[in-house]
Amino acid sequence: PQAELQQEEIIYRSKLPDIYIPNHLPLHSYCFQNIANVASRPCLINGTTGKVYTYAEVELTARRIASGLNKLGIQQRQVIMLLLPNTPEFVLSFLGASFRGAIATAANPFFTRAEVSKHAKGSNARLIITQASYVDKVKEFAQDNDAMVMCIDSAPEGCLHFSELTQADDNDLPEVDIASEDVVALPYSSGTTGLPKGVMLTHKGLVTSVAQQVDGENPNLYFHSEDVILCILPMFHIYALNSIMLCGLRVGAAILIMQKFEIGLALELIQKYKVTIAPIVPPIMFTIAKSSETDKYDLSSVRMVKSGGAPLGKELEDAVRAKFPGAKLGQGYGMTEAGPVLAMCLGFAKEPFEIKSGACGTVVRNAEMKIVDPDTGSSLPRNQAGEICIRGDQIMKGYLNDPEATARTIDKDGWLHTGDIGYIDDDDELFIVDRLKELIKYKGFQVAPAELEAMLIAHPDIIDAAVVGMKDEAVGEVPVAFVVKSGKSEISEDEIKQYISKQVVYYKRISRVFFIEAIPKAPSGKILRKELRAKLATKKH
Ligand code: AMP
Repeated sequence: PQAELQQEEIIYRSKLPDIYIPNHLPLHSYCFQNIANVASRPCLINGTTGKVYTYAEVELTARRIASGLNKLGIQQRQVIMLLLPNTPEFVLSFLGASFRGAIATAANPFFTRAEVSKHAKGSNARLIITQASYVDKVKEFAQDNDAMVMCIDSAPEGCLHFSELTQADDNDLPEVDIASEDVVALPYSSGTTGLPKGVMLTHKGLVTSVAQQVDGENPNLYFHSEDVILCILPMFHIYALNSIMLCGLRVGAAILIMQKFEIGLALELIQKYKVTIAPIVPPIMFTIAKSSETDKYDLSSVRMVKSGGAPLGKELEDAVRAKFPGAKLGQGYGMTEAGPVLAMCLGFAKEPFEIKSGACGTVVRNAEMKIVDPDTGSSLPRNQAGEICIRGDQIMKGYLNDPEATARTIDKDGWLHTGDIGYIDDDDELFIVDRLKELIKYKGFQVAPAELEAMLIAHPDIIDAAVVGMKDEAVGEVPVAFVVKSGKSEISEDEIKQYISKQVVYYKRISRVFFIEAIPKAPSGKILRKELRAKLATKKH
């Protein structure tokens, strides 16, 4: 009966045929497989300093770093943590870790000390590569856990300097036997529920994901070696790490690294370096759409504007399209746990695909997608919305040290459940219509309600709390809290906001507090977030 049931499943595949994917290769070997063709071409351009690193330089430096890591005692499968803004050193360190057979995890450098410590501890980081201004955030963790701290810009007391890695002799690196199932990247995500967790992405998974985006017969599908790709999105997030950095390296394109988003500078750099590809997120689109500065620059080099990471509204889409008349604008759909890309717009290719407004594209090649009725678990036909599930070699191996959360997310048949609601239309285009999971996205950054709820409940004046997202035009969603305070407490909205602000990075700050009598919950104890969101819809802001 099991086999019969499976036969009845409605499974969607790419509009394009499957391809050969060399996912037996370690990630770095795969990325540099065609380096002979691009050795002297620009690989990384530092948008702040103008310094250019060629492909040959990047590959050699990455091997040196691997050798240096080995010398420092970093073993295969040990974790190094990158606490860095977008910099060439970020990319070099990531690749060096891959060559070493080690694992790279990256945290937002704006995290508070407590957030960084949690991340470092959870991932058991043995070395933290950062810059001098962030050393205070990691010192205590390093001391208590016998980890090393290294800075890319100087070497404050007790810290190593990055040159220790870059000046190592690449010939000293012993042969490293990397299995395709070995983990290479460990981004953090809260997934469909709970606290942020380490997402184990393997060499095989990332090679598969990159190949699904850029390999194959149709070189115009996504990027090619003549492209200049703007890397304005943070590299600590998998969107930039995979879809900009790794994809860019694989095709031999130039990656223009920007440290932070500043509209004037971004436009200037687009003009100066003749950027062809601009992968961004809806809040950046919003800024571009509202900016009058766009008229001052020649943006005609841009051939593709790609949006992902959060829903993109039709009005915004049209407004940005008007700013880049020569470019195609389409969406991709990713989720860290899915490696991350599940679907992408094929309309970037010349023929024969069109871009459908509002669509997230079609499921990637060499993968299966199904749409599942959240109540019954049965797979749904076209044009019916349900939970989006994906299966393929590109998805995560699981959450680090959390088999229960892994089992809740990847079922026994290998399907990853996204917690997103969408449907597939008659042209195999995927449309996302809602989010089932509790995740809040502020400018594409993850905010896990469970993390804020735990902090709120830890306050002596608070008996119970629930956090949900409230729609916001500029940033997507902001976290708001429903709070049950203890009988005699006179704690105010502002006091609660400040109490949280001290503990978290800026985008997790609570923007409103609503006091209520009781948090609506199911008999199982699960917070009924839908009810709270409905309450929000009726409130005046
Ligand atoms: P992250 O793991 O941080 O990349 O967040 C993944 C989540 O972002 C997805 O599960 C979706 O809820 C949301 N998301 C990503 N891309 C899109 C998109 N194109 N449209 C709507 N939501 C998206």
